[in-house]
Amino acid sequence: MFHKLSNILHDITSVLLPRLCFGCNTLLIRGEEHVCTVCRNQLPLTEYNFNVENPVDRIFYGRILIVKASALLFYTDKGIVKNLIHYLKYKNQEQIGYFLGQWYGHILKNNNYLKNIDYVIPVPIHPKKRRRRGYNQVTLFAKSVATHLNAKFSEDILTKTANTRTQTKKTRLLRWQNKKALYMLTNNELLKDKNVLLLDDVITTGATMEACATALSNTPGIKLYIASMAIVP
Ligand SMILES: [Zn+2]
Repeated sequence: MFHKLSNILHDITSVLLPRLCFGCNTLLIRGEEHVCTVCRNQLPLTEYNFNVENPVDRIFYGRILIVKASALLFYTDKGIVKNLIHYLKYKNQEQIGYFLGQWYGHILKNNNYLKNIDYVIPVPIHPKKRRRRGYNQVTLFAKSVATHLNAKFSEDILTKTANTRTQTKKTRLLRWQNKKALYMLTNNELLKDKNVLLLDDVITTGATMEACATALSNTPGIKLYIASMAIVP
């Protein structure tokens, strides 16, 4: 009886407040959340696991010392993934991070490589930007992944100190010099000898991850893993 009633209520709210697929804007039906079944089946999963070398690893070769890198989805200029990230970052749809984090968490929790992750940390955004947006778009993603890995979540350890954009046009060296001080650790003891998984939304040039990793790398004994919602192929 209660179940029936909640279904009816669900149908009434969908008429009053139609829920749309973040991938293709069609109406969601009962049982669908965030994306429709068609989009869900079309999501371009990388299927990279943490066991063999992949193109995300290769982005960071010779730049920073990490154990492994990976990504959940391919990011392309058009399509479902671009729409999801757009709604997540600019349209107040923070829950998309939760949706992707649940998905990735399910995949990662069965991975032998990630059994011993101690901390999951989202790439921070500047406090000013967070106030404007209302949230860090990577927070819920990182929280969900942390839950699945039985790891601690922290967004206070790593902070962004300057409100500048990623500089993609400069050379790698200049970029590195410019970015290395953009992120800071608030606690130098906590991550000592820990396995840390650093998460971001989209990896493009890898410059942001590189700058964060540089800030983290001064910690003795730290082992760093990197992953993102999506990777530009
Ligand atoms: Zn759709």
